[in-house]
Amino acid sequence: MKLSRRLTRYLPFSALALAAALSGGAFAQEPVLNLYSARHYQTDEALYANFTKQTGIRINRIEGKEEELLERIRNEGANSPADVLLTVDAARLANAHELGLFAPVRSTVLESRIPAHLRTEDWFAFSTRARVIVYAKSAVNAEEVRNYADLADPRLKGKVCSRSGSHPYNLSLMASIIAHQGEAKAEAWAKGVVANFARAPKGGDTDQIKAVAAGECGVAISNTYYVARLMRSGKPEDKKVVERIGVVWPDQQGAGTHINVSGAGMLKNAPNKAAAVKFLEYLASDEAQVYFADGNNEWPAVPTVKIANPALEALGKFKADTLPVGSLAMHRAKAQIIFDRAGFR
Ligand code: FE
Repeated sequence: MKLSRRLTRYLPFSALALAAALSGGAFAQEPVLNLYSARHYQTDEALYANFTKQTGIRINRIEGKEEELLERIRNEGANSPADVLLTVDAARLANAHELGLFAPVRSTVLESRIPAHLRTEDWFAFSTRARVIVYAKSAVNAEEVRNYADLADPRLKGKVCSRSGSHPYNLSLMASIIAHQGEAKAEAWAKGVVANFARAPKGGDTDQIKAVAAGECGVAISNTYYVARLMRSGKPEDKKVVERIGVVWPDQQGAGTHINVSGAGMLKNAPNKAAAVKFLEYLASDEAQVYFADGNNEWPAVPTVKIANPALEALGKFKADTLPVGSLAMHRAKAQIIFDRAGFR
């Protein structure tokens, strides 16, 4: 300590800070990770506490809505304290990538744990959700809605409900349809769906499910976790909703059901890059995967990890589309153009 005190007079500040950090002495900075998160689930608390327990790295969490966080990181620019951005939806993660906000991460842990189609060079999916068809058992036969294509079939005229075509969940679904079938077929599909609307798009996925149960719509598209949330709800009105609906895994004979993700990436200007990589690797661990996925009724991205979620078990097994999440980004802009042209607002 005597030596470092004497050095104080001669060393510039940065070298001094480095020396203090290396010595682990009183001047050492506590290791931290600045996490910008669009997830707000209770189980995430345990997730973060366990990371700190394992690594000694404290987490500073900045929570916000998805678009707000992106905007904030952009505005902070080179001075951004953000180390990791954690958010939902492939289209949003792809947007962050296109804006050049992420830094590439090479990690043998992440490469061996996360399947290739669920990662890119700079962001990684840590859980998946599927976009399913929900139908009113009293009004529609499950056989009529086996595929996304069925939603555009004239026999469903006046029965289809959906949230906005501008919402990232629908843009990602549309991007996958473009990737599999090309733009012309994708546009014909969008026009067919619009022609079948029971009402103009409004509300979120849960609103569509409730409208199906109420008889206002015959079919709707929804993410699985919204269905699972209703299935696990103790409220009598939610139980009634669940009794009235059926759920279909679309495209089981084709490409498989479209899946979307929750994911994260390290930011280009991250001040704590080593901590950021450690955190991403931690999210791929068995323990973190369970918290991360189960907390929002999603499936772990790491295929060997099993969760005991009664609602997901009740929904059963399905074939998921293995289109690489990064390629959804490629068709995102086109997806919006096609929805606009089709009047899917
Ligand atoms: Fe959601």
